[in-house]
Amino acid sequence: MSQVLSPTAEDCRERLEFMTSITKLYFRHASTLIAHYDDWKGKDEFFFIELRLDMAYVSTGFIARIANPPYFLGTIVRNSLLHPDLFSNECPDGHQAFAYTYSGSPLSGRVSQAMACPICGWNAWTERRGWHDRSRTLKAIQAEDLERYKALKESNPDFKPVDLKDLLRSLAVPEEDLVLPRIDRKIEKSESDGFVFQRDPFGGVMIEDTNTGRITCYQWHGLNE
Ligand SMILES: [Zn+2]
Repeated sequence: MSQVLSPTAEDCRERLEFMTSITKLYFRHASTLIAHYDDWKGKDEFFFIELRLDMAYVSTGFIARIANPPYFLGTIVRNSLLHPDLFSNECPDGHQAFAYTYSGSPLSGRVSQAMACPICGWNAWTERRGWHDRSRTLKAIQAEDLERYKALKESNPDFKPVDLKDLLRSLAVPEEDLVLPRIDRKIEKSESDGFVFQRDPFGGVMIEDTNTGRITCYQWHGLNE
């Protein structure tokens, strides 16, 4: 079965694909971006680059976010550097590595943090407890930066952040390392306890209750795959 998307939905898709590519580059170069934060934090067109991070905990009946969109590059890095007690830990070589994205469950309190070491480039996911503490801290930092962003847009309505590639170029990242990875369009399907979960490659999810037939969608963009 195929469905025709409206131009608006297609525009939305393109933006999602673009932001997903940006975010993949962010994941790849997180250690460099953290290491050189002082070099780019002062430029709003770098600081307010928007990432598409998947920070929502989606369950049947509710969605909880450890942090709210928009996710500005500068905010995430600033938050980790400002609160190392919550957002850093040692890499295997004993350096201080910092979190660059997070997820987890408010129910169990478990938090998964992707960590990158600015010294050796180590990059891995770690598990911690303390979802609520981290969520509170993150959201406070986000609120500060969102105020700054709003003031910026007010004084300069044409303000736009640059492409993450331009920031990485300014940090002397070689051009071959900026090639955008191909977007995987695969939809992942899983089942548990009478629910069917489908996840699209952009972080959207569709949940179907097989008993009632009720379908709940969250940022779902997989309709014409
Ligand atoms: Zn290290």
